[in-house]
Amino acid sequence: MGKILLFYQYVKLQNPEAIAKWQRKLCASLNLTGRILIGDEGINGTLGGTTQETDEYKKQMLAHESFADVDFKDSDGDASCFPRMQITVREEIVTIGKDKQKYNEKDGGVHLTPEQTHELIASQPDDLVILDARNQFEAEIGKFTDAIVPDIHVFRDFPEYIEKNADKFKDKQVLMYCTGGIRCERASTVVKKHTGAKKVFQMLGGIHRYAEKYPEGFFRGKNYVFDRRIALKVNDDILSTCMLCKEKCDTYTNCLNALCNKHFICCATCKDTFNNTCSEACKTLVENKKVHKRPPLVSKQYSNKIVH
Ligand SMILES: [Zn+2]
Ligand SMILES: [Zn+2]
Repeated sequence: MGKILLFYQYVKLQNPEAIAKWQRKLCASLNLTGRILIGDEGINGTLGGTTQETDEYKKQMLAHESFADVDFKDSDGDASCFPRMQITVREEIVTIGKDKQKYNEKDGGVHLTPEQTHELIASQPDDLVILDARNQFEAEIGKFTDAIVPDIHVFRDFPEYIEKNADKFKDKQVLMYCTGGIRCERASTVVKKHTGAKKVFQMLGGIHRYAEKYPEGFFRGKNYVFDRRIALKVNDDILSTCMLCKEKCDTYTNCLNALCNKHFICCATCKDTFNNTCSEACKTLVENKKVHKRPPLVSKQYSNKIVH
């Protein structure tokens, strides 16, 4: 068993290409897999490898002047959780599609630690609104109790949602969260600019850090992740249902029909009945060999616990 690292740092980088070159060499030498986005605004990454390899990666990163403050979030996993290593230079390290000067992370919401987050929710202020800054399919299997979940499927649509629903947040204390904190850095500037919220908070380290500290706290269910693990169990609550039979279930799968490849929640019984597809139609297509099958998914169960 190894580790998956999740990390980001907003920091001015003079030469993102040079950083990417160094990262490619470093990751290859350590046999790491995953995804790293680099831009002149910073770095955003998730990596898998053995504990020894990921520890060495951390060591080398923290020795670099631009990345000495990176907060690495660890969870169980390994290199098999990603198909390959992908390092890309981009304009934005999280795509929100808004002017970087006008919506700069320096103007974001006030950061709250897991302890401060927990205290704020526990004190139940009348004007508190919890806002999930992720996509709807992520929140489906795990979220903070009573959080508002925007009906979006890509993060790029978040600003439009906020502008259309500004009245939900006007004169409120808005507490925002995402998986590991990075999406809120710029999304919170959007909420601040367009809603007339009284106060905007963002959870430092996101669900990941909160769940480590309070596994039975106000976050219920699973923390969705963008690798083959799909989700990390935080507690035993199951928030969602199987798309096919409506039984309680929070396991995502992809339709076996490669052309469909629908990402949906499906129970073990329906997986069996529908031969790993999303519908009678896809099942028939696969069984009659009319379509290709998508490659099999690695499905391992991981918890949100850190292994030191
Ligand atoms: Zn089912
Ligand atoms: Zn399908």
